[in-house]
This record gives sequence, C-alpha cells and structure tokens, in this order.
Amino acid sequence: MDAEEPAKYCKFCFGTEEDSSLSFVHPCRCRGSIHWVHHRCLYLWFSKTSAIQQVMCTQCQTRYQKQLTLKPFRMWRFPRFRCDTFSAIEILADMVVTYKMITHFVGMLDGTNTILSELLYFFLWRIGIVSKGRLCFYGNVGTRLASGIFRMSIDDYEERRDIKARLPSDIDWDEISGAAGPN
Ligand SMILES: [Zn+2]
Ligand SMILES: [Zn+2]
Repeated sequence: MDAEEPAKYCKFCFGTEEDSSLSFVHPCRCRGSIHWVHHRCLYLWFSKTSAIQQVMCTQCQTRYQKQLTLKPFRMWRFPRFRCDTFSAIEILADMVVTYKMITHFVGMLDGTNTILSELLYFFLWRIGIVSKGRLCFYGNVGTRLASGIFRMSIDDYEERRDIKARLPSDIDWDEISGAAGPN
C-alpha cells in the first residue's frame, strides 16, 4: 500500500469526512485531488454523464468494477428510466438496422438476397451499432433496468488490486476481467 493519503475529500462536492457521514470510494487509478469521491456523488454523476464515462474513468482508463446485489423483495420497484427523443431515435435506428441485417441474412441463406447486400447491412451494423459508445450505452440501459431489483455498488480500486495480488501471477487477470465484462 502507499504512504498515507492526504485528508479525504470528494472530487465532485469537495465535502470532507467531517462535513458528512457519506461514504467514500476510490474507484480508479486517479490520485491527488481526484483520488476520492462519495459513492452518492459518483452515482449522481453516472445518471448525468455519457455512456462511456459511466463504464470507465476517461482520465486514467480504469474500467469501474460494478457489483449488483439483489435487493430484499419489499424494496423491489419499477426502475426509473428516462429516455430523451434523441436516444429513442437512436435505439429505433439500431433496431431497424439490426432487424434488416438479420432478415437479409435469412434471405441470403434461401437465395433471395445477394451476399453483397448482406455485407452492406453487416457493415452498417458493425460500424453504427457495435461501437464502444453504443455498447456502453446498452450496458448502461441494462444496469438501469436492473436497478429496480438490484443494488449497484462500486468496488474500491485498491481493494481490487490487493485481491488480484493474491491470485496466481501467471494469468493476465485484467484481460480476463475485461473480457468477462458486459461491454
Ligand atoms: Zn461528494
Ligand atoms: Zn481515474
């Protein structure tokens, strides 16, 4: 572990441990004035920021390790889900292109469509939808929908690293955890 950290304060609201009883987390490799953040402030920020920034810290490129735990049944509720017009149009466009690609693929198999037109749709689909931004967006939609019955928490980066240090070192755990992620 590192030498002692300076007094904890939240990178978003600048609140210190004396100011409130809110819990802190260090979710990524960032240090110094942006080392600590309140759990609550981080979740508030997730609800406002871009899809990619909800998945990883864009400053240090650390992917957040989110955990979902099942809430007690009496706390289940319908998830809050806002969708602006622009996102709705994007989702619709994604669905149309995906549908077209699949129906074209079926058509190609029974000979009514050419391979060329299928390739065209596949290209559109590959470029437009299977992009990092869109995959993050859908991952976040899934997390938001799951929030009705699951409680999300963020793992502390240092604790994660301590656990990793105790695992066998001949395996690339970063690669494995990256590949196992929903995005
Ligand atoms: Zn805060
Ligand atoms: Zn960071």
